[in-house]
Amino acid sequence: MNIPSLLDAQRRYFASGATKSIKQRLLILKRLRESVKRHETAIHDALYTDFKKPVYESIASETGLVLRELDHAIKKLEFWVRPKKVKGSMLNFPARDYTYYEPYGVTLIIAPWNYPFQLAMTPLIGAIAAGNTAVIKPSELTQATSQILDIIISEVFASEYVCVVQGAIPETTELLAQRWDYIFFTGSVFVGKIVAQAAAKHLTPTTLELGGKNPCVIDNTVKVSLVAKRIVWGKFLNAGQTCIAPDYILIHSDIKDQFLTALKEELGKAYGENMATSPDLARIINAKNFDRLVAMLEGEVVVIGGQVDRDQLYISPTIVDNPSLDSLVMQDEIFGPILPVIPYETQRDIEQIIDRYEKPLSGYVFSRKRSFSNWFLHRFSFGGGAVNDTIIQFINEELAFGGVGNSGAGSYHGKHSFLAFSHEKSITRKSNLIDLPMRYAPYKGKNKVLKFALKWL
Ligand code: NAD
Repeated sequence: MNIPSLLDAQRRYFASGATKSIKQRLLILKRLRESVKRHETAIHDALYTDFKKPVYESIASETGLVLRELDHAIKKLEFWVRPKKVKGSMLNFPARDYTYYEPYGVTLIIAPWNYPFQLAMTPLIGAIAAGNTAVIKPSELTQATSQILDIIISEVFASEYVCVVQGAIPETTELLAQRWDYIFFTGSVFVGKIVAQAAAKHLTPTTLELGGKNPCVIDNTVKVSLVAKRIVWGKFLNAGQTCIAPDYILIHSDIKDQFLTALKEELGKAYGENMATSPDLARIINAKNFDRLVAMLEGEVVVIGGQVDRDQLYISPTIVDNPSLDSLVMQDEIFGPILPVIPYETQRDIEQIIDRYEKPLSGYVFSRKRSFSNWFLHRFSFGGGAVNDTIIQFINEELAFGGVGNSGAGSYHGKHSFLAFSHEKSITRKSNLIDLPMRYAPYKGKNKVLKFALKWL
């Protein structure tokens, strides 16, 4: 595919105004919905082919979420696009103030492999709802899903409107060399910096959805079995390959042993005695990531799990007891089914550990004491999170989803996706009925009145 000519075609299409028509936006979102519904089983099959993702998880975290986002956008679009009246300033009297929502134009969406359908489609819904064109670059590591995504997109859109460009680093590099009006990137911090540099060349605005080392803090007031159940679900969903999964546990030392026993019980309940045969555990995406994860286990005290099978790209849910903070498993984001559990005594211990890392994408705290959870929420900076649960913040499209600092910039989901892909244009509509003389030269003798007006109006 010739990328510069694809971009030219999209630029011309955007300039024609076709993508701005509200009727057109609604129509195409509905057609997209129909197409996703029609290909639902094929999408689930593709996700299974790519990394044995269980169908339940595909519905919950891929197709189901995308359909919800589509329904939400279809229902709300006419309200979102309407210019919003803003409280006016008496300094401009008589006038009325508004926010208009303007599409950026030609946008680029780069997606990762871990939720390969949802993380390409959800930003796209925002891009279309806001009236842009889009080029989607899905991950090269999930070939089957990228293929079905391509089929759906070419079924619904002309390529001058939305198009999928398949490929790996060379293709993404070529895409990034072009001038875009907006870039939406989901992936690693490393590639996020490459994207930000490419965007800076043209002063292109970006949303960067990156990762981090997400802490999960548990104090000694909790009901341990319930906490263990919720953590097992959030951590081992997608085999731990989730950007907002708890990365490591900090638990009050009084209940650490009890917690480890509860984790073992919950893992047994969820995945059976022989977890390798469970149909509910996805596989590691490729050998490179498998080797990276297995290397993290070297020299560690593995108290649960630890079974690995390179041919099957299988790593069992694995709990590592109290690793050194200098160990490999405590260096970078784990992004796999390995969970370190570290005991603490005081809040100062928690601070010393979490403060070692860059601001993560999410943070979790389990406690029955509101003062403790409030302390956690106010003391640490992270993209978003939950109190007494994991991951669920992602599900509510009313909540903005995004990182902070090293875990990203900008946010999306629901209306926030529409806003991410829109320029908020501030407009003051001035009346011609009266024209107060105050602001015009000559200024002589007007300073006092000006100061009064700035202070009191
Ligand atoms: P990645 O950064 O390796 O790849 C993401 C995309 O960038 C892919 O489409 C890939 O083809 C492209 N890419 C890779 N290397 C490139 C290069 N050198 N130059 C240009 N493009 C390049 O990420 P990944 O391995 O696919 O996904 C895992 C990472 O994504 C984790 O760090 C995870 O935390 C993060 N993530 C974040 C979110 C979020 O919503 N914030 C969601 C999912 C994943």
